[in-house]
Amino acid sequence: MTLSRETPKGSESVAAVQQLLLALGFYPGPVDKNFDHRTEQAVIRFQEFAGIYADGCIGPITMAAIENAYQHHVIELNSPGTAAASGNLIPFMKVHADDFPGGNHCLFLRADAAHAYTLLKEQVNARGGMLTSSAGRRCLNAHTAYNRSATSFHYLGRALDLFFWCALRRPDSDPYVVQLEDSVKRSLRVFARGTADKVAEVTLENILVSGDPGFTKKRSVTGPFFDLTALMAEFDFYPIPYRLRFEQNGDPLASEWWHFQFEQGLIPGASTFGGELLKVYPQDQLEGTPPWRFRDRVYKVNWR
Ligand SMILES: [Zn+2]
Repeated sequence: MTLSRETPKGSESVAAVQQLLLALGFYPGPVDKNFDHRTEQAVIRFQEFAGIYADGCIGPITMAAIENAYQHHVIELNSPGTAAASGNLIPFMKVHADDFPGGNHCLFLRADAAHAYTLLKEQVNARGGMLTSSAGRRCLNAHTAYNRSATSFHYLGRALDLFFWCALRRPDSDPYVVQLEDSVKRSLRVFARGTADKVAEVTLENILVSGDPGFTKKRSVTGPFFDLTALMAEFDFYPIPYRLRFEQNGDPLASEWWHFQFEQGLIPGASTFGGELLKVYPQDQLEGTPPWRFRDRVYKVNWR
């Protein structure tokens, strides 16, 4: 049996496939038993990802590929590392970002993070907000610098950067505003701008602007904002502290306001950076690269 746009509406088989595509991070629209345009596009994205003929129809080959991918996904969710140990790496998947001048259109994340991202983006967009992008996965031989850690979650496909230049500049029109939450913990809270028909207007205090040493120019803004940092956490994406340079000389590039990392499945005191690298890369590819030198780092102990 082949499933395609020709399949009559109300098909249980279509619903089952939609469910699998959704779990794998290929958003097929609502699971509604109807093989519509969005489901077809999701099938095409999966076929391109799997390297099989991309015609948007589900025949026996595509069905087997979807089931196989799903099997690995479930193994990985239930016992992280098992799939990798048996030679099955977690794939990187491409996801889309909202357009913003200068920002990227898409990014790569490992499959489970990509799945969470897709669901998160639905929620953000439903509020009239956007998810922009500067980066996702970082390649293994990328150079490191003061603001590019060798143990970055980006190497793992577990981190995303919103587009740097859409906050801290014009709080009255930027897609995001950044609030100083706790200067001891160096924590920030990011609010996204929604639309007035979907999000109630709020007034936010302690909003930061760039180039402000010592945070002396905090201001308040009013608008249809929603708490993006809280929404991110619902999908296991968490922020990191800003770097001291941000407070000392107002350097916006030290703020890290844009960085969120996917921490699902990591066990404090047990998960290692190397173990996570091995879930997404074969060992021979890792040897000799900057991140591999830090493979013994332990989550929440000397790696965070
Ligand atoms: Zn980042």
